[in-house]
Amino acid sequence: FTNAIIGALVALSIIALVLSLVDIEDVTLPPTVKYGMVFDAGSSHTSLFVYEWDSDKENDTGVVSQTLSCEVQGQGISSYANDPPKAGDSLRECLDKALKVVPAAKQRDVPAYLGATAGMRLLREQNSSVADQVLAEVAKTMREYPVAFKGAQILTGEEEGAYGWITINYLLDSFTKVGEGQTNILGALDLGGASTQISFMPRSSVINWNDTSKLTLYGYNYNIYTHSYLCYGQNEMLKRLAKELIESFSSTRIDHPCYPKDYNETVSLSSFRTSPCTNQSDPRLTHGNRNVTLEGRGNASGCLAAIKKLFNFSACSQSQDCTFDGVYQPPVSGQFIAFSAFYYNFKFLNLTEGQSLATVRETIKHFCTRSWEDVRSPQWENPERLPKYCANANYILTLLLDAYKFNETSWNNIFFQMKAGRADIGWTLGYMLNLTNMIPAEAPVQMKGHVP
Ligand code: AMP
Repeated sequence: FTNAIIGALVALSIIALVLSLVDIEDVTLPPTVKYGMVFDAGSSHTSLFVYEWDSDKENDTGVVSQTLSCEVQGQGISSYANDPPKAGDSLRECLDKALKVVPAAKQRDVPAYLGATAGMRLLREQNSSVADQVLAEVAKTMREYPVAFKGAQILTGEEEGAYGWITINYLLDSFTKVGEGQTNILGALDLGGASTQISFMPRSSVINWNDTSKLTLYGYNYNIYTHSYLCYGQNEMLKRLAKELIESFSSTRIDHPCYPKDYNETVSLSSFRTSPCTNQSDPRLTHGNRNVTLEGRGNASGCLAAIKKLFNFSACSQSQDCTFDGVYQPPVSGQFIAFSAFYYNFKFLNLTEGQSLATVRETIKHFCTRSWEDVRSPQWENPERLPKYCANANYILTLLLDAYKFNETSWNNIFFQMKAGRADIGWTLGYMLNLTNMIPAEAPVQMKGHVP
């Protein structure tokens, strides 16, 4: 009998043990948070973005959020061409800030990238060994920090465009909604200091394969048209505009139709030599160091006319699907998000609330006729930017309407926006997702039923 009781107790404890093991197996560990960081080394300035996501959702869409954005003090890294170690030093403040938001135990696993865009593309064109030195210095600084440094590179214009497109559609969850029968893939319009990018999914297949990126994301193929125009960023455009005005009138005092009345700016002709966007042609500009004063005239229609001259539209007279300079582009289709300087300028002019094209035109025209006294009143705005909004806004109109060929109707499909849900819009998130293999080519398991 005692044996029977002992046997029963043993059996019960075995059952209890088995049950407890089952229980242990059912317990899932809480997901851990992972981090990644990307420097956006733009032409006029550098920003650092730190992202985070749950480790168990790595391959899902829309799970990465932005933990930190940090503005690097001073100019873009290409401005340190004469003193490359300073380019590296400029990053330190933001790297220190980033380490404060990532727990110490995780820092060594944080993939850290630096991507440089058009400012460095231009510097490489001018002097590739200096561009390499600048990249080597930023890499050296990043290696000093306890993160997993993965590289400092110059992106091509097309990569910059495609990664911006990925960022937008990732943040807006468009990739998974395709699986639900919604094809609301958005296009991306990016205006930087030295280049501008347009990226979208054309309605019909693209003929010119130079300008397409084929992407397979979450089980779907996307043929994206993307083009980047070097020297068509807004700072380079302003320089080209000044150069064109000076060349046309060759005197020491020049009327500038886009600057406000009573605003003057003195430029040295040697400043045009520093960029490949303005250093060609006219010997009067390429020699000598004369100063020229640009005198604001607040002439809205004159400004628009002068800006149009920066584009070679006649090189497109033979073809419909052409922007300027003979560049192929299929007709724009679908909705677009216009970010970076598209957004900054329109935000300043209170034009980001879906205003009609007629209102936008009227607002810009009115702004352009205001005097400097009147324009410079907003205390919150950087005074160096204020005289430039008229030229920038007219440039944006010309680019979107005359070059890309948005019209009265398709204008309403452009959303001027800088944030989407959890993050800033730009190429950095798409770049990190791609380089960390966080966007699978295959559909995630829970979506497989939707794949055609
Ligand atoms: P990047 O440095 O290449 O990213 O270029 C960004 C562009 O936006 C540069 O032309 C900057 O001068 C411009 N920008 C930045 N902030 C503002 C702002 N608040 N208003 C107008 N333009 C801006």
